[in-house]
Amino acid sequence: MTGSAKSAAFDLLAHPWFGRFLSLGGGPRCVVLMLHRFQSADHSVTGHDPAQLRTLLAGLRRSNIALIDVAQAITAMGDATTRASLPRRSVAFTVDDGYADLVEVGEPVFAEFDCPVTGFVVPGVIDGHCWFWWDQIDWIMRQTTASSLSMELQGQPVSLQWSDADSRHVEQNRLIERLKEIDHDALLAFVHELARVAEVPIPLAAPFRYRTLRWDELRAAEARGMRFGPHSMTHPILNRCTAAQSAHEIGESVRRVREELAHPQAIFCYPNGRPGDFGMREMASVRAAGMTSALSTQPRVLCIRDAQTADPDWRFAVPRFPYAEHLGTVARFFLR
Ligand SMILES: [Zn+2]
Repeated sequence: MTGSAKSAAFDLLAHPWFGRFLSLGGGPRCVVLMLHRFQSADHSVTGHDPAQLRTLLAGLRRSNIALIDVAQAITAMGDATTRASLPRRSVAFTVDDGYADLVEVGEPVFAEFDCPVTGFVVPGVIDGHCWFWWDQIDWIMRQTTASSLSMELQGQPVSLQWSDADSRHVEQNRLIERLKEIDHDALLAFVHELARVAEVPIPLAAPFRYRTLRWDELRAAEARGMRFGPHSMTHPILNRCTAAQSAHEIGESVRRVREELAHPQAIFCYPNGRPGDFGMREMASVRAAGMTSALSTQPRVLCIRDAQTADPDWRFAVPRFPYAEHLGTVARFFLR
């Protein structure tokens, strides 16, 4: 193991959630983890390393930390009579965006440990009406023959310059983070303009490397035990949408998931999910659509305090931690 991997492990030990999660005392606690893409066998897609995930799952099992369904965690935590049935320490796995690698790479690893997993899917992408805007940027940046681009975003200059794949990736991520701060329609217009300036036409259908699972593949995965829930129609940051757009993104995605799947989770997952990416308006829409809870990306342990709060809306902003590769390293060190 390299020095940097060791120091990453010790850094994480110092992370407040880890100590609080493992310490004795208190009521049941659940860490809800959020994953995205998985590394492909030929490494052409960067994502979570299945070997690292296996290490983490093995560590959690060895430490008798329960691997549970996220719906079970939220439901049981919210009811004083069922709360006692919750394991004292548990982890629930969620995977956002519904890429094909969830089933091709992730699912077999989760299955090895009999670990429940819920995927959150985007019906507008599955139905072929659009593909993810950040993938379109990735496509444009990979395909263009340029090594620098100059544009304007809301009166401010945007200048991108790169010399290799790594620096292109850095520039691309910087741009994506900046675009998360503007209205969704302006974001889509910018991606369109980027394609024009870079002289890369955006294909109507997502190229293979960005492939998401089809409904029949989701149904087959459901039959094997996986669960799925709605994650909006086109994955905009809902607070950057008009009220009508936001309501449609939520309500229609709930409707499509219910229409296509046999056992959909009654849990909505906010795109991006940071505080400020959704608000009371979205929480009300999620509730009106018949969902019983919703997931954010606020990194905090789900614990009894959430359920005991006087605020009934706690179920509509359930905290989650981003999964990081070094969790696998940590598991090897500390979860014995
Ligand atoms: Zn997402």
